[in-house]
Amino acid sequence: MAHVVVVGGGVMGSAAAWELASRGFAVTLLERFAPGHTEGSSHGSSRIFRLAYADPFYVSLAARALPLWRQVEEESGQAVLELTGAVDHGPPEAIDALYAELRIAGHAAWVLTPEQAGERWPGLRFDSSVLFHAAAGRVHADRAVTAFQQAAAARGAVVRHGVRVEKLLRHGTDRVEVVTADGEVLSADAAVVAVGGWAPGLAAQTVAGIPPLRVTQEQPVHFPARPTAPDALVWPSFIHHPGARLTDPAGVYGLGSADGVKIGFHAVGPTVDPDRRDRSIDPAALRRVQDYAERWLPGVDSTAPTATTCLYTITPDHDFVVDRDGPVTVLAGFSGHGFKFAPAIGALAAELVTGAPGARRFALGRERTPGEGTEL
Ligand SMILES: Cc1cc2nc3c(=O)[nH]c(=O)nc-3n(C[C@H](O)[C@H](O)[C@H](O)COP(=O)(O)OP(=O)(O)OC[C@H]3O[C@@H](n4cnc5c(N)ncnc54)[C@H](O)[C@@H]3O)c2cc1C
Repeated sequence: MAHVVVVGGGVMGSAAAWELASRGFAVTLLERFAPGHTEGSSHGSSRIFRLAYADPFYVSLAARALPLWRQVEEESGQAVLELTGAVDHGPPEAIDALYAELRIAGHAAWVLTPEQAGERWPGLRFDSSVLFHAAAGRVHADRAVTAFQQAAAARGAVVRHGVRVEKLLRHGTDRVEVVTADGEVLSADAAVVAVGGWAPGLAAQTVAGIPPLRVTQEQPVHFPARPTAPDALVWPSFIHHPGARLTDPAGVYGLGSADGVKIGFHAVGPTVDPDRRDRSIDPAALRRVQDYAERWLPGVDSTAPTATTCLYTITPDHDFVVDRDGPVTVLAGFSGHGFKFAPAIGALAAELVTGAPGARRFALGRERTPGEGTEL
């Protein structure tokens, strides 16, 4: 049985380990930190799941992920994905493009007036047409990582925490040695490197063609829902697209969660080194989110924020890197919108390991055009 070492136990490495174990590979997953750690990109209680992208490629990738989320829930016994629906509002051209792509792909979606939307979701304020689609909502991030690891282990994967990989030594196209910081050497037929914000180090040292990756520290904020507003857990996920009266150039995302209503500006944080980042809360960035909440979210108490930090790893075109170079497959650059796709990325990784060609869109060394940066 071929042995694959997966380096990195965030959501992407864990999903890949599950897919590989499901396909009969002997899998070892190595994660440098303890279970439930908050150093990378995959912690916390919520991430948006949605099908709506103004791009058929991502609409179909999200649709591929949906039944796989249900499958990992079933195998692990963990509830991970809750469909509370999703709301998009902002300039009509942004809403029209999302609506068109959903309809072309055969997904149900509705456009509402601001008045209709305000009645249905009293916690949010609208001043433009609003798109709703039901096959969307919230993924519980911590539970998702645990679920993938449990389901992988149930299929025979060995999951090890507290093991930092120092380097990978490639031998031709079908042999790799994975060397840990403690000097242990694991020999494998293939490796999957899914190290999130550490990709500019370990992944870039191991394979050629990784685009310049910018690692940022983002600062989402949770607010309690007001007693007069619906409970946070039933809020839809929402994206407020920039333009029209949202003059701030970064898009805003939000969703209800067990920790309150989470709000963030997309990809606005400072560039950081993940090993030396300052996890302290930036008061100016917090104020900006509070100002937004005061203006646009009558259903939250904007005076009671709880901010947290998390890493984005951003490619120039905001497309992901999911490709293979010899015996090493790289999963990187999820640009702040990867979580929803995780089981589909795991499946793509397993296909690459079995020798199938990857998606050109996610290729190493591809031609790049800078992205808009507002997709979530
Ligand atoms: C604030 C915020 C909000 C987001 N919201 C959404 C959203 O609503 N919807 C959505 O789809 N996406 C969202 N995302 C993006 C999504 O969370 C990420 O794309 C995803 O979590 C990336 O996972 P990863 O496995 O690539 O990285 P990580 O979770 O960082 O995992 C990498 C792992 O590799 C480990 N590692 C690193 N180096 C080594 C080594 N040398 N040896 C062993 N292990 C190592 C790390 O410890 C880490 O656990 C959001 C991200 C943030 C930060």
